Amino acid sequence: MRVAVIGGGVIGVSTAYYLAEAGHEVAVIERYGNVAQEASFGNLDLMGPAAIRPWAMPGTPGRIMSMLFRPESPMSFSARLEPAMWRWLRRSISECGVQRFKQNQQRLQRLAGYSQELMQHLVQKHELDFQQRSGVLMMFRTARELEQAHPLMEMLGEFGCRHELLDIEAARLLEPALSTHTAFHSALFMPDDWAGNCPLFVRQLKTQAQERGVEFHFNSEVQAIRPEIGGVSLQMEGRTVDADAVVVAAGSDSARLLKGIGISLPLYSVKVYSASTAIQEYELAPKVSVFDDTYRVALTRLGKRIRIAGCAELGSSNFDLHQKAINTLVKVGDDWFPNAANYRTASFWCGPTAMLPEGVPLLGTTRYSNVFINAGHGAGSWALAAGSGKMIADIMSNHRPEIDTDGLTLTRYGDRMR
Ligand SMILES: Cc1cc2nc3c(=O)[nH]c(=O)nc-3n(C[C@H](O)[C@H](O)[C@H](O)COP(=O)(O)OP(=O)(O)OC[C@H]3O[C@@H](n4cnc5c(N)ncnc54)[C@H](O)[C@@H]3O)c2cc1C
Repeated sequence: MRVAVIGGGVIGVSTAYYLAEAGHEVAVIERYGNVAQEASFGNLDLMGPAAIRPWAMPGTPGRIMSMLFRPESPMSFSARLEPAMWRWLRRSISECGVQRFKQNQQRLQRLAGYSQELMQHLVQKHELDFQQRSGVLMMFRTARELEQAHPLMEMLGEFGCRHELLDIEAARLLEPALSTHTAFHSALFMPDDWAGNCPLFVRQLKTQAQERGVEFHFNSEVQAIRPEIGGVSLQMEGRTVDADAVVVAAGSDSARLLKGIGISLPLYSVKVYSASTAIQEYELAPKVSVFDDTYRVALTRLGKRIRIAGCAELGSSNFDLHQKAINTLVKVGDDWFPNAANYRTASFWCGPTAMLPEGVPLLGTTRYSNVFINAGHGAGSWALAAGSGKMIADIMSNHRPEIDTDGLTLTRYGDRMR
């Protein structure tokens, strides 16, 4: 089958790789000049259970409200308060109850566990080296934060994900570079979570995909999808591309493309920030990756640099850097590893990541037999990329997916979506 994949982010490239492995003729269509130029570029690079927590979880609304007017906060709102944002927020808040969170986390964990297995296989098979580093330490500043993380710990236990709750002394023993000036209550250590350089991984997987015959068409933007009998046609500036089928893996543009064919999804583009800075004192830099639960910001060491990312901004229509988000990233760096680097002089970046209210992606078929979707991975898609790509390739090749697809397809929004 001739398949066009729209989007050269981690999701599109993983999809293309597995489709080519399954014997399809694949073309990736990407509007920028290379792969991993949007959300997959700024990615913090965490993979595993900590990275895949949905934003909507118990305690999130209260925490955000209590920090909204502080100079640092995990979430901020731009002046442009649009109705779509309020609709998305309302739906997200309804996903914050314990039962909804458990259901969403269970779905994510199923896909993340599968992805982790596939990633390990990819790393071994192609000898990929993208500055991987294992171990993530989730820091709880207060007893209340630890209490709110109990449903997460239950889920980790249920899925057999190794995790260990550490007191202050044990956390400092594990990560001796943690600042002694920042008070915290406890920390959750996840030894099997990883961090690595996501854009580097995507470029390496692109090479493997090319070796399997995948063609990459850069600087090519798809304006509209036209499903036809027995195929699909993609409208681009001055030309059309025909294929037997298309996979929409266009990140923040997926909602627009799907809306054009009558599929309206509650996908909302959230602006997320990252900072990258050179390590100045190697002895004082982190050995494991650290996730600050208060600010929902993570910090990791990538070769000679430290990367910090997080801070969701809602309602923004541009890529201007907002001071509040920068303050938050700098604070997290200064709080945990103050002398490892100068965070104020970091390179700051922000970009859109498409999130669904539940934080669980949508994969598979649509009401059109030739249009498939792999989108809505939100804040944790690198951790889900390999599993999502393989699942789509299996569905399109009429093979039974290797994991249960319940809750991961469009049917979770009811039949009217199909
Ligand atoms: C700052 C930040 C930190 C993050 N940290 C983590 C983390 O630690 N762990 C984790 O797992 N996830 C993390 N994420 C989330 C993760 O990076 C994203 O969910 C993931 O990269 C999304 O991948 P994607 O391929 O769907 O989207 P993208 O990487 O955005 O790729 C979509 C691609 O489609 C292209 N495109 C869009 N529309 C069109 C069109 N019409 N025609 C042609 N091309 C088009 C875009 O140019 C883009 O290259 C983070 C995200 C951000 C922004």
